Amino acid sequence: MDLSFSKISTWNSCKYQYYCKYVLLMDFPTNQYQEFGQIIHQVLENAYTKKFKTRNDLIREFYKLAKGTQVNKAPFLKDAQQLMFQFPMNELSNQVVDVEYRFKIPVTEDINLVGVIDRIDIIDDDTLLITDYKTNKAMDLKDYVLQMQLYNYAIKCSFPEYKKRILDWYYLRFNKHNQVVVPDKVNDKIKNFCVNIVNDMNNETVWTKNKNQYCGFCPMKEKCFG
Ligand code: SF4
Repeated sequence: MDLSFSKISTWNSCKYQYYCKYVLLMDFPTNQYQEFGQIIHQVLENAYTKKFKTRNDLIREFYKLAKGTQVNKAPFLKDAQQLMFQFPMNELSNQVVDVEYRFKIPVTEDINLVGVIDRIDIIDDDTLLITDYKTNKAMDLKDYVLQMQLYNYAIKCSFPEYKKRILDWYYLRFNKHNQVVVPDKVNDKIKNFCVNIVNDMNNETVWTKNKNQYCGFCPMKEKCFG
């Protein structure tokens, strides 16, 4: 099984949603908020690969990519402008290892840890900076502790020559970096964590609905509560 943070997150928040999405493989269309986040990420990837120089380049790129999508309308365009106008362009001149770095790390013969990391920078001979861009409207860092631990494990496996990894969850709306160093001892627990959660996923039979704060964004909401 390929195990990602979003798969685990869905499992933890609602078993029924997990069942629909990952067992029945039902179509979960991208909503406008998800599409907004995807385009912002694409703009920031392009900012590096196309070597944008100014924040106006970012905004122009957003407008270009938003054409014909659900977010080509006033609230989202204004929102994107605000986000892009405070993006620290100087960071793009860092020594970047990769943007949109895709990892697939074997945990056991049957389990791979998979994910995409927004940006990896070299800080010095020993240290990497792992950046994840967040477009959230709240600084809900505690929701992402597990994501940091999984990414830290993946980068340790992918780049063992770097002894230190700084995880930076950068909240674009607030122009705020939240940097954490995950202790090495956490890495020892990740393998067991993955094995146990996959075991639970494979053995689940009840698929309980869990009404939660994200039900309003869930494509299953009418089926669940309609
Ligand atoms: S609407 Fe809520 S309870 Fe129903 S599947 Fe979605 S998250 Fe679960």
